[in-house]
Amino acid sequence: MGTDRRSGFLRDSWIGATTLKKKHNMTIDWNDIDTVLLDMDGTILDRHFDDHFWLEHVPKRWSERNHSTLEYAKTHLYGLFHSQENTLNWTDLDYWSDRLKLDIPVLKQEVEHLIAVHPHVIEFLLFLKQNGTAIWLVTNAHSKTLELKMRTTRIGPYFDGIISAHQVGLPKEDLRFWGKLQNFISYEPARTLLGEDSEANLETARHFGIRYLIYISCYSSRVTPRRSEHFTTIDYFNTLIPIKGNRCVTIP
Ligand SMILES: [Mg+2]
Repeated sequence: MGTDRRSGFLRDSWIGATTLKKKHNMTIDWNDIDTVLLDMDGTILDRHFDDHFWLEHVPKRWSERNHSTLEYAKTHLYGLFHSQENTLNWTDLDYWSDRLKLDIPVLKQEVEHLIAVHPHVIEFLLFLKQNGTAIWLVTNAHSKTLELKMRTTRIGPYFDGIISAHQVGLPKEDLRFWGKLQNFISYEPARTLLGEDSEANLETARHFGIRYLIYISCYSSRVTPRRSEHFTTIDYFNTLIPIKGNRCVTIP
């Protein structure tokens, strides 16, 4: 599945519930960072695709197949989705194809025109390349989702490598994930930056000791961005690119 979509509609209300805004300023000196880990859905790609797919398109197709109302399908499926949150099943297309008796990869292709790279992502990846920083895509997404998204966006070659949580055997929400990731990527937590649209994943990364944690507030082209109460927040990745001749940026 898309990675964070279904938690989004639960999480957004939680983020919006508080009006007290704490500041999480951060100064980044790119001399101090060797590795950048980037999440996929919502972070570099528009999560509107995933939200629309799981919250609208799948219930629509499920209701047609089961001769139910769309309202019933949504209530029933949202409950099923919720039951698998924070597990690898959440993003496992084979699991959902089997559980819902629908061909989920084919349904994804029906709405693949909604897959899009967020603004300023390519600019940021080119900056990192120029800087000599290692760039890894680290996602909870299933291999079939990855294949579709890499084919439609052609963004894969910008990365030194792509790691799916399904290879690691744990979702990023699991505290053990970031340590286990070191079996796949050699990285030093104190010299690593992680970009995520999931505060839960940033929290497990903080627990492991990843030093530079960035929350992406514009995770979907259809939502009004809100700052994180807990992490340094950017709307778009161009905020992390220093002006020419500089190596440092300060994020307000
Ligand atoms: Mg995400």
